[in-house]
Amino acid sequence: MTVIHCYSSAFRLLLACLFGVVGLLGLSGESALGQSYTSARLADGFDYPVGKPDAYGYYVYRGFSSYGHLGEDWNGNGGGNSDEGDPIYSTANGVVIFSEDYHKGWGNVIIIRHAYRGNNGQISFIDSLYGHLKVRSVKVGQQVTRGQVVGTMGRGPYRMYAAHLHFEIRKDLRVGMRRELYPKTTTTYHSPRTFINAHRRLRLEDRLVRIPINTFLKTNPNKIFSDAINLPEVSSGTTVRPQVPADIDLIIEEETEAAAATPEKSRSLLDKLLGR
Ligand SMILES: [Zn+2]
Repeated sequence: MTVIHCYSSAFRLLLACLFGVVGLLGLSGESALGQSYTSARLADGFDYPVGKPDAYGYYVYRGFSSYGHLGEDWNGNGGGNSDEGDPIYSTANGVVIFSEDYHKGWGNVIIIRHAYRGNNGQISFIDSLYGHLKVRSVKVGQQVTRGQVVGTMGRGPYRMYAAHLHFEIRKDLRVGMRRELYPKTTTTYHSPRTFINAHRRLRLEDRLVRIPINTFLKTNPNKIFSDAINLPEVSSGTTVRPQVPADIDLIIEEETEAAAATPEKSRSLLDKLLGR
């Protein structure tokens, strides 16, 4: 009885250790490249970001176009700013990877990363972006579910637009707020309605998956750097040195030799310098 009891305690301890290690490595590991991972619930389908879940009461005022408008502008049927402050919903389960007032024509922006099982059976990732928001109600790292309110419809920075939602779906996880660095085509973006309509209901798999984060590139990946950087030469003649009288210079020279480095010698140097 005692033996069994001891064995089971030891076994439980071992399990606790194993799960502890797996938990640390698996859910928030960081690779050598600085890319790290978090976990989020696999998407069970994609809904519209307004008029949950089918965009009832809303329409696309301006659609997606390559080399043009890289997302969709959603407006309420009421027209004008009657839709200002309307709830904006996460299109699917995911994790918030960006939530900022970005200014520059964007205003409040939220980006959510989603993992879903594509038609090929593989797990794929996309980012959904919600722009010009009046209010952001989720923060980076937060897990969200399909249909969860993430903010409200706004008018952009300084209320510069008529209220609408600018909505994008990105295939390329590096884009972030640097759209100018990537092809403005369907190699980088999905046409939002086309993607949503093709993924309305996915097989129910209630599980967490590992999601890469910190994938936004800060600099242009296509920029060419030259190897040699030519710095202007600085001639030693232009170096400014303090002017020390020759006799003082000689004293310093003699007295700062290694052999002279004793308290007594330092004392005598001080006396000489002070003219005692
Ligand atoms: Zn837009």
